[in-house]
Amino acid sequence: MSKRYNLSLIKSNFCYTFTEIAKLFHLDISSPQRWYKQGLKVLDEHQRPYLVLGTDLISFLKKQKAQRKITLSEGEFMCTHCRKARRSKNDEILIVMSNVEFSAGNRKADIVGVCETGGSRLRLFSSERKIKEMLNKGQILLPQGERLIWSATKPVNAWFRRIEL
Ligand SMILES: [Zn+2]
Repeated sequence: MSKRYNLSLIKSNFCYTFTEIAKLFHLDISSPQRWYKQGLKVLDEHQRPYLVLGTDLISFLKKQKAQRKITLSEGEFMCTHCRKARRSKNDEILIVMSNVEFSAGNRKADIVGVCETGGSRLRLFSSERKIKEMLNKGQILLPQGERLIWSATKPVNAWFRRIEL
């Protein structure tokens, strides 16, 4: 069952640590940590402990609530413009790698697409590990003869690839 959060407890101009967020909603620390992996914005990814601005926490939880009503099938994104599950145009996706590591060898990575019905940007928060799994299962296909190269030096790497799920 999904939990309801009393958003009026959050001060929009206040900065919260994950511990403070957990305390605020009587949750385990793993909840804000999971939200972070799902896209909760932190002020500075290179600074510990992570700090979350109240207004970002509010918009994340509101978005979560809206998304819960929509079930995504494989290969679909939640389009914030259409407010519906959409596929990316021509099923093409872009993988945006970040240099932020969730754990050793598992960097934060986003799957980005373009809404099939318009030009809206679609985004799915993911990780290096999950994307590698999808590649292994053939859920992300690379054009013939090409290789996905994981660069450790560049913060952002982008490829346009066909996704077939
Ligand atoms: Zn759309």
